[in-house]
Amino acid sequence: MFRDLRPLAASLLKSQHMKPIAIDPVEMTDHASRAAGPSSTGLSTQCVHGNIDPDSPSRQHAEGAITAPIYSASTFTFESTDKLLDFVEGREQREEYGRYGNPNERLVEQKLAALDNAEDAVVYSSGMAAIVGLLMSRLSSGDEIIFFDQCYHRSREFCGKHLAKFGVVTRQVPTGDFAAMEAAITPRTKMLVSESPTNPHLTCVDLEQFVALGKAHEIETLIDATLATPMNVRPLDHGVDYVWHSATKYLGGHNDLLAGVISGRKELLDPIRALRGCLGSVTSPHSMYLLERGLKTFSLRMQRHNENGQAVAEFLHQHPKIDRVYYPGLPSHPTHAIAKEQMLGYGGLITFTVKDADWKTTSRVVDAAKIARIAPSLGGTESLIEQPLVMSYFHYSPEERACFGIADNMIRFSCGIEDSADLIADLDQALAAI
Ligand SMILES: *Cc1c(COP(=O)(O)O)cnc(C)c1O
Repeated sequence: MFRDLRPLAASLLKSQHMKPIAIDPVEMTDHASRAAGPSSTGLSTQCVHGNIDPDSPSRQHAEGAITAPIYSASTFTFESTDKLLDFVEGREQREEYGRYGNPNERLVEQKLAALDNAEDAVVYSSGMAAIVGLLMSRLSSGDEIIFFDQCYHRSREFCGKHLAKFGVVTRQVPTGDFAAMEAAITPRTKMLVSESPTNPHLTCVDLEQFVALGKAHEIETLIDATLATPMNVRPLDHGVDYVWHSATKYLGGHNDLLAGVISGRKELLDPIRALRGCLGSVTSPHSMYLLERGLKTFSLRMQRHNENGQAVAEFLHQHPKIDRVYYPGLPSHPTHAIAKEQMLGYGGLITFTVKDADWKTTSRVVDAAKIARIAPSLGGTESLIEQPLVMSYFHYSPEERACFGIADNMIRFSCGIEDSADLIADLDQALAAI
């Protein structure tokens, strides 16, 4: 896969008014060519090194260690009151108390900001902690937010059930229906929110239109780009104000940690970071070490996730026992054209429905899978399989499930980084079981 992406990169750069960078032809691979932001390095280099100035102290670890030590400290000492004054009076930037950050976390934040082409990034103990932190910081009683309706079920629950108690009104409109979104805007609307691609329908939202709507009404925009990752799309380059990722998924990538991140402009993130210090939704130095380590191989892993996703989706698409496949890399997906325009790859998550199957027959396919394990989550090295009806929507009424588009015969498959031939063979034998 050494397809020359320069024409695509050039057109993307043109459409995004970005400054072109010099691309070394020898370095060209599908993804290594992903245009970087302020620095001139590619995404894979950023995965390893971040956007860090070679002379930056954050590159100089104790004893010359190439990796950062894990700073298992809840507090950081000052040599004297004078040194403390240097800090409180802003002459020196350093650590203070663990709830406000730690060196392992800062390293991750620098790296994630570089990958998202952002000025800054704030990391949280989970993806949900990140969205809670952002919305609590930005919204006040009486404010309104508008969501596209295909979204992570806990985002919907937090806004509809919990933010509502503080007088924040959440409106939902059909995903991709910009006329409905515009019609729902009132003078109290503070934020437009969407995923792209959405979970679990993989609908891609036209980011240019989304941003244009926000700008026309002077309303901030937020994209949950967990399924896309900075490898496949960078919403900040399209003008979105905030990007949100569950780093638990592809960014960490090994199914061994929980984390979340919000990236964007520094002036927007400063108050959000300050609130995080009050909320206490901070990360542990140990999980930040794992995340920083995971990020080093992110571009390699993501390339494989993209390849496996496409191969498995194409296999399912032609399988006689499959009714529908939701994967943005398939021309049959309703938002394939948008995906093709704004994404460089389509990820490892595939949702499909089993032909003429009730929920029990569908469960038998899930149970028959041997490589893929039954679990929630996605984006890790191990392939995972689940039936949304049972895994996440069991306690919703059939009417609610119909409203959210969760069919009884639906299966969500997260491709890991195994060999695609093995994943296909596994699904093939699982489908033969019914
Ligand atoms: C998992 C997920 C979240 C929540 O992230 P956590 O790290 O589990 O808290 C939010 N959005 C999407 C699209 C997700 O897949």
